Amino acid sequence: MAVTELDAYAAEIAGCTRCRLAEGRTQVVFGNGDPNADLMFVGEAPGFHEDKQGFPFVGQAGKLLDQLLAGIGLTRDQVFVANVLKCRPPGNRDPMPDEIESCEPHLFRQVELIKPKLVGTLGNFATKLLSGKQLGITRVHGQEQEVTLGGRSVLLYPLYHPAAALYTPAMLKVLQQDFARIPELLGRAAEPEPEAPPLLAEPAVQLGLF
Ligand code: URA
Repeated sequence: MAVTELDAYAAEIAGCTRCRLAEGRTQVVFGNGDPNADLMFVGEAPGFHEDKQGFPFVGQAGKLLDQLLAGIGLTRDQVFVANVLKCRPPGNRDPMPDEIESCEPHLFRQVELIKPKLVGTLGNFATKLLSGKQLGITRVHGQEQEVTLGGRSVLLYPLYHPAAALYTPAMLKVLQQDFARIPELLGRAAEPEPEAPPLLAEPAVQLGLF
């Protein structure tokens, strides 16, 4: 299999020491899936199982993510999944602002290399970071918005975090409803930008050559 620029970047940051989380981690959890995916998901941070196995969303929340994807006819290898933080915070505590700041260049570089059309942000941390707004997930879930990421226009789609929906049936229902719109949003995001009409007639015609 060809080594992608994304693989090279993963190798480059495998020894990252940009923040204190480097001290307690088993390994950097870079993210995985299709390096050219149109659809990317961004969660919060690796938990216990992710830290041990080296892949995002492999625990209970990951199983739910797999089910939600299956519900719209997708599998994990058709999308790319990553987190805001690449290293596990001790005891699964919330990411700290300085950790997010240290780690965000990694996420932005991933987006630049993967070039997704639609980015589903799972929960508050990813939503606030990538939207650049402080509005909480309860207010903005299911509302797509155009943002510029990695120098490209991307459709951002805030979603509840699967871990939050695991034990709250009402939230799970909303998450399923929001997921159900993903195929439509992907179709919309895939539409080419309309070409600007030419401002002038053909130069040769203007010059009176014909
Ligand atoms: N929760 C997350 O936000 N990310 C993971 O990888 C696992 C659980």
